[in-house]
Amino acid sequence: MSKTYIGVELRRHAIARAERICEYCLIHEDDTFFGCHVDHVISEKHGGLTVADNLALACTFCNLHKGSDIASLSSQGLLTHFFNPRTDE
Ligand SMILES: [Zn+2]
Repeated sequence: MSKTYIGVELRRHAIARAERICEYCLIHEDDTFFGCHVDHVISEKHGGLTVADNLALACTFCNLHKGSDIASLSSQGLLTHFFNPRTDE
């Protein structure tokens, strides 16, 4: 499945909103080796849209660990949604 291109304005908006801080682990982009990426909170394969409310800035490690997943099983076997920087605190 191909990913929708995230336009320059949307990308700039997401980076400015996050103040260049990974919205998952809170590391500043300047403190990362590989930088940060604007990515879909809910991946396109799960129906996520390429809109500001579904984009987040993520460092490489958070982005790779999350992948296109939206949830995982807890140690108790419960389905647990991943942190959503747009709706969770
Ligand atoms: Zn991170």
